[in-house]
Amino acid sequence: MKTARPTAKLTPRPIRSAVLLAIGSELTVGETRDTNSGELARFLAEAGVDVAWISALPDRLETVTSALANALVAADAVITTGGLGPTPDDLTREAIAQVCREVPAVDPHLATWLRHLFERRDIPFPETNLKQAWVIKSSTAIPNDRGTAPGWWVDRPDGRVIVALPGPPSEMRPMWQGWVLPRLEKRGFGQERITRTFRLTGIGESAVADRLGEELLRAQNPIVATYARADAVDVRVSAVPEPRRSAASILAKAEAAVLAAVGDHVWGHDDDTWSSVLGRELVEKGWDAALVEVGTGGSATRLLGEATWLKASRSIATGDPGAELPLAGLARQAGRSAGAWIGLAVRAVEVGDDTRVELSAVGPWGVSETSQTAFLGGSEGRRRAGIAAAAFLHEILRTALAARLSSTAPPTGRQ
Ligand code: ATP
Repeated sequence: MKTARPTAKLTPRPIRSAVLLAIGSELTVGETRDTNSGELARFLAEAGVDVAWISALPDRLETVTSALANALVAADAVITTGGLGPTPDDLTREAIAQVCREVPAVDPHLATWLRHLFERRDIPFPETNLKQAWVIKSSTAIPNDRGTAPGWWVDRPDGRVIVALPGPPSEMRPMWQGWVLPRLEKRGFGQERITRTFRLTGIGESAVADRLGEELLRAQNPIVATYARADAVDVRVSAVPEPRRSAASILAKAEAAVLAAVGDHVWGHDDDTWSSVLGRELVEKGWDAALVEVGTGGSATRLLGEATWLKASRSIATGDPGAELPLAGLARQAGRSAGAWIGLAVRAVEVGDDTRVELSAVGPWGVSETSQTAFLGGSEGRRRAGIAAAAFLHEILRTALAARLSSTAPPTGRQ
């Protein structure tokens, strides 16, 4: 496919910020979920491009035009998906042309390519489809190998860029990856952004936010954000360089502030999982563990996955034989029968709306036991009991066992 040449005089402008617009009434009536913007946003954020905002818009010319105009004030690149079809309600091209004060015209090369596509399939060419051969002076057509809707790359005189891509993800993705991204990268795409994630347990997201404080959470650089994940509350810190300060020094300062506020709850970093963190500590020492859980529906085993250091795991339902036995006995038995260094037992019991979690571990240092109340009952309480078991073992490895090892003889052996 031949493409039209841009004629606008360019002021080079690196792409540091972007706005994403998903266009189509099917999005705003809730028939289709806007996955395109999420995908593009992840790309952009990873490249250090600040996504100022994401909007889903109906097929209404004035709405799309004004959204484009606003976005062009705020961001270096405006990326749209959808609305490039042949019908009158596909009006992304009209809106871009209006914002650029240009008039669309049929590009003869694109028209030939389009007609050829229909000929190849032996389908008469509907003249309405000529709309997909439109260009404006400042646009370059983005080839679409999987559909009939070419995209548009539009150079604004001030160096900003509008990129219009079709809605179907199977068309949008290769055009983005293969055509748009290399060109954005040529412009200078994003900036160095370094990030550090702290993984926390034993504290809720709102308590984390309280401790971090508004000043830290509202800062633009570094950005400190909290996320409630299934296995942890994450605090993610990221920084970009400033004229007189490196990203690393900005990040280090923020990390120190985060650790001062919530460091007592940190159990891992970045891509750590419970399994990998516990595994690091255990495998390094050549140790392993066996697990028995009661009334948890197997949540601890699910959380720890197929860990090599977990020699055996067993789940007992409440009411089954053995469920009422003293927990230390269950832990010892689990360790012994698997020939593991550590036997770990967890029992979840619903009490009112919440869940009592009892924990016991038997190992070279002796026996450790504790209990706690997990917020909520049912599956949520059971899920939290699984996390409590992992956190308990982690705490033992960090404190009790470490203290014992530094002060006395080597561990006495397997269970
Ligand atoms: P085409 O002419 O190839 O259909 P288009 O740009 O006109 O391209 P739309 O008509 O807006 O695309 O959407 C076509 C289909 O693409 C939708 O029915 C939907 O399945 C999918 N789609 C559109 N927008 C999105 C989006 N933001 N996220 C995910 N899927 C989308």
